[in-house]
Amino acid sequence: LFITLEGGDGSGKTTQASLLREWLESEGRVVVRTREPGGTEVGVLVRDIVLHHRGEVSPRAEALLYAADRAHHIATVVRPALERGEVVIQDRYLDSSVAYQGAGRVLGRDEIRDLSLWATEGLLPELTVLLDLDPATARTRLDAADKPFDRLEAERDEFHERVRAEYLALAAAEPERFLVLDASLPAEQIAGEVRARVTALLSQ
Ligand code: C5P
Ligand code: MG
Repeated sequence: LFITLEGGDGSGKTTQASLLREWLESEGRVVVRTREPGGTEVGVLVRDIVLHHRGEVSPRAEALLYAADRAHHIATVVRPALERGEVVIQDRYLDSSVAYQGAGRVLGRDEIRDLSLWATEGLLPELTVLLDLDPATARTRLDAADKPFDRLEAERDEFHERVRAEYLALAAAEPERFLVLDASLPAEQIAGEVRARVTALLSQ
């Protein structure tokens, strides 16, 4: 079972990944918790480029770097785990690229999706949890936690609005795969909704 968590910075993906993992392990499942960018040794190098050399990398080069990170991560970590029958909980996947590079950087939804599907030989998650939060609330949360709102650079609000709108459009286009939750709700309440959906998937 392949589960991905999506949403803007500060939407609580990390918290939900932890809660879901704890619960699945208490149910006796073997869980691999991972993330993009940076889920492998090679990926950590790519993450360093996209995070710390952002201004120097053109939008298309950035999209290809995310795709390279993803190709390596899926081939070496995610597919092997899925073949062993484990549950993979992944922080960000192709929807991040469609939202950030496709919509945020205006490179186009179909192009970025096709690039990602090529990179991963067409791997799609069974479930994608979208933690939806308005960028102003996310900014307030991250300020309170003393974390930068955008860990790459201070993007303009319009950028984050485009990202959010694209995520919601993606979810509307694939309602079977997506579970959209209001990220301003208490973490435990969100976790409960995620557990309900995962329980249904595991009993299929
Ligand atoms: O979620 P995480 O903190 O690992 O993301 C690192 C940064 O990379 C975030 O600020 C996010 O906005 C950005 N990002 C991106 N395009 C992606 C994935 C992440 O711009 N495809
Ligand atoms: Mg995070």
